[in-house]
Amino acid sequence: MAIPPLPQTPAAGSSREPAPAAARSAVRLEGVRKHYGDVEAVAGIDLDIRDGEFFSMLGPSGSGKTTTLRMIAGFELPSAGRILLLGEDVSNKAPFERDVNTVFQDYALFPHMNVAENVAYGLVIRKVPAEERRQRVAAALLMVRLDGFDKRRPSQLSGGQRQRVALARALVNRPRVLLLDEPLGALDLKLREEMQIELKAIQHAVGITFIYVTHDQEEALTMSDRIAVFNHGRIEQVGSPAEVYERPTTAFVAGFVGTSNLLRGDVAERVFGSPGTFTVRPEKIRLAEPGAAIATDEIGVDGRIREVVYLGSETRYHVALDAGSELVVTQQNLSTSSMQALAAEGRPARLIWKRLHSLSINA
Ligand code: ADP
Ligand code: MG
Repeated sequence: MAIPPLPQTPAAGSSREPAPAAARSAVRLEGVRKHYGDVEAVAGIDLDIRDGEFFSMLGPSGSGKTTTLRMIAGFELPSAGRILLLGEDVSNKAPFERDVNTVFQDYALFPHMNVAENVAYGLVIRKVPAEERRQRVAAALLMVRLDGFDKRRPSQLSGGQRQRVALARALVNRPRVLLLDEPLGALDLKLREEMQIELKAIQHAVGITFIYVTHDQEEALTMSDRIAVFNHGRIEQVGSPAEVYERPTTAFVAGFVGTSNLLRGDVAERVFGSPGTFTVRPEKIRLAEPGAAIATDEIGVDGRIREVVYLGSETRYHVALDAGSELVVTQQNLSTSSMQALAAEGRPARLIWKRLHSLSINA
């Protein structure tokens, strides 16, 4: 898909000294906290988000993602700490004084305005001349593949199209940072997956820093350069999708980003010969016949298949280990039929994986 770049004239009212790419972060949070009465929504966050990065904040409902985003936008002021945008302390600045735009889940389009008017709104407010406005609106609509929809009203658009208008309305202002709070949450799965790919491509084309809030681990893994995993108002881990998935540093991250498959205490001692907490991803484990030989760089444990879940392209096996505890194993159904997969229920099996695929993590 070819995406045209937006013309690079500076936005009215903002002077943009280009900075050396790695010299400063787009957004920096220093010891940021927010409490509402007794509720500690954000319990102390330090974070550097790089310029031009697609950065996701991932975590369960109530973990403080939206509050953090709203503090970056300026809709909420931190109870403690500092927020820097491109090196400048904006902690006490109003939202309109910050070079950021926000896209919410519930589009918030003006129903009485057509698509072009909705997108042009921010430019009208900033008194951008009509001809430049027309060009920028056209470029933004082309970017989100809504050229030709200028005259439609929001009520004449699908959910996905409305969300594209909301995106165009933010992009047209050319903010340095775009904040997106679960923007695809209202769309059905298929459309959401299409939009994920498209959003990533748009971000790449415009080069604007995206900060993307989601509770959906697959969404975060699909789109992000880096992910911060939130839990109870704190960040448990920051890393690339591969780092967070393959090398989770805490039990929470292992469980939230994927299936946790934790082995602890006595069970870990019996399986690995050392105590601690270990995790191994379900797709790294091979299901073999009882007594199957293992190589020197492999670990083999015996158990019984307690439950089989046939998922079409793969099958998920829940295996109760003789050593105690349970592991989930997923196998691609390369040549296995559903009948064969389901017939495995109740059978003994040996689980085998490469030693390097079991990680020691903080409990
Ligand atoms: P998330 O976006 O990760 O679901 P939020 O940032 O919305 O989480 O909320 C974090 C916590 O702060 C929750 O316990 C929520 O109930 C609380 N909270 C958020 N906003 C307010 C508010 N305006 N007043 C009181 N509590 C709030
Ligand atoms: Mg939220």
